[in-house]
Amino acid sequence: MPSKKSEILDVAIVGGGISGIYAGWRLATADAGASKKLRGRKHASKKLSVQVFEGSDRIGGRLLSAQSAHAAETVCEAGGMRYVSAQTWIRSLIENELKLPRFPQIVDLPQNIAYLRGWQLRGSQTTDASLLPYDLAWAEQQFLAEPKRSPNDLIGWAVAKLLPGVNVLTGEALDKYLQQAEVDGTPLYKHGFWNLLARAMTTEALALAKATIGYDSLGANANAVDMISEYFNFTPDVNYYLLDDGYDAVPWTLQERFVAAGGVVTPNAWLEGFDAATLPDGSQGVTLQFRSGHPSVMARAVVLAMPPRSIRLLAQRGPVLDPQKAPDVQVLLDSVEPIPLYKLFLVYPYAWWSAVGVSEGRSLTDIPVHQCYYWPSGPNGTMLKDGPGIIMAYNDQADVGFWGGLGAAARVARKTGAKARMYPRATANVAAAVNPFTARLRKNWHEHEAPYEMAAEMHRQLVLMHNVQFAPSPIDAAFMDWSADPFGGGVHFWNIGYKSWEVLHQMTQPKPDFPCYVCGEAWSTNQTWVEGALQTAEIMLQKHFGLPKPPWVTEPVAAAAQAAGAR
Ligand SMILES: Cc1cc2nc3c(=O)[nH]c(=O)nc-3n(C[C@H](O)[C@H](O)[C@H](O)COP(=O)(O)OP(=O)(O)OC[C@H]3O[C@@H](n4cnc5c(N)ncnc54)[C@H](O)[C@@H]3O)c2cc1C
Repeated sequence: MPSKKSEILDVAIVGGGISGIYAGWRLATADAGASKKLRGRKHASKKLSVQVFEGSDRIGGRLLSAQSAHAAETVCEAGGMRYVSAQTWIRSLIENELKLPRFPQIVDLPQNIAYLRGWQLRGSQTTDASLLPYDLAWAEQQFLAEPKRSPNDLIGWAVAKLLPGVNVLTGEALDKYLQQAEVDGTPLYKHGFWNLLARAMTTEALALAKATIGYDSLGANANAVDMISEYFNFTPDVNYYLLDDGYDAVPWTLQERFVAAGGVVTPNAWLEGFDAATLPDGSQGVTLQFRSGHPSVMARAVVLAMPPRSIRLLAQRGPVLDPQKAPDVQVLLDSVEPIPLYKLFLVYPYAWWSAVGVSEGRSLTDIPVHQCYYWPSGPNGTMLKDGPGIIMAYNDQADVGFWGGLGAAARVARKTGAKARMYPRATANVAAAVNPFTARLRKNWHEHEAPYEMAAEMHRQLVLMHNVQFAPSPIDAAFMDWSADPFGGGVHFWNIGYKSWEVLHQMTQPKPDFPCYVCGEAWSTNQTWVEGALQTAEIMLQKHFGLPKPPWVTEPVAAAAQAAGAR
């Protein structure tokens, strides 16, 4: 339901990703009379009028759950997939407030494959330097030979050589240490992570660590403070959880609650730009102009719940985005960098990889597949015995360009109306979707079906890394390259030279005297996670809108135990 032209919204939220719909739900359910800051906005009623404008036809943004009609008993995740037991906001939201069903995700198993430099090893063999096709230094070999070590620990070991003692810290203690740390008399935040690693480990060890961590970007030359924080907060005892109905169940449920509380969601509304406006009561407000003829909107405040590339795609005018009027905002916008991410799901008639002893978790390689997850084919993380087999390939950085090349011809064909050769390759014999949520999951899959060439090359690489003589052809395939607009990347990293712990607060209101607020994963200190999107949304809601901390938030158990000296 579009807003009436004459209506002035209390808050217009642009972007229906997790941060936007979460902020909408929190504002629509807030008691405006109880907050001094909100009382100033609201005179008569206690309810705020809040509308979420989303450019695409769905709420969820970089959470993109999808279901193949050939694998109807599971949900695949083409975007964000899991939360972590050590996270505060998203864990509390899912477990305490929304009470959504979830199950633990299996990741690394000793029998799974590590296909490195053309050699097939098993996970359990990757600590034996004599088997590894890498020319490691003697000290690196010795380090790996210690019990309970894995190649990705080499990064932590290298960092601890430059910052002694850092490897035993986590949480706030770690952040405080890193924010004050110096290397060679220069503050740590002015160092690039890769620049530092190069001093403390060989190129060979770094190549091995990146291949076995699964992300090239974890060795990126981003801000050393934030990269080290991300690395050490991934302690081996964290647990990962997937949602039974897919991660999309979170924004979907929030959307339902937002609408039930009187909020309005308007899909297919791409913001073109926004400007300052004087409201009828003389106060400072905002006008929003949309593409494709959607009527313009007036609001007391606008929230941009979107990543930097989306903000750069807006008209660069007005008191916030005009580079002449607000050069300081440009500096803030430049503080983070998008990281390309790509996922492809292949559905097979059966799980042919079980013939070589792998069935759960992930295998790893340095060829462009990079991470190969054996995705649960049944409900709640189970594997169907007689059902389809599903593989999720997941990679970042340069690998994304490799797969992008195989999607380019189909993209051009679609633009010119020519027919491209696409998946699925077989007709599904599965009942049609039964409810609106499942119908949406099916639509998400259909809109991301993979070009034939892309799926065929992925299949070739999977056969290679598993070293099998025969594997059946895939019957369905869907992918997402998150470097495409309006996202510009899957996740973000802080650039060298910025103090993330200060910029994140500044970014929530980039022009202190203008009612434009920003939230989302990009300018958070929990980048790469939904946790970061909720972290900045909460900072914005509590600081600028005066909302109290939600009662359902609880601290992670591991962190509490740690605070009590249990570790
Ligand atoms: C491949 C991949 C794997 C990931 N894995 C995980 C994981 O396992 N766990 C985890 O916690 N996180 C993960 N993440 C990160 C997580 O998905 C993001 O942090 C989170 O979804 C970002 O939410 P957001 O609200 O900040 O932004 P977004 O989700 O990007 O939302 C922005 C919204 O704004 C809309 N928009 C943009 N421009 C306009 C405009 N002009 N007008 C109107 N609307 C507009 C977009 O369409 C979008 O819906 C992953 C991300 C990717 C891509």
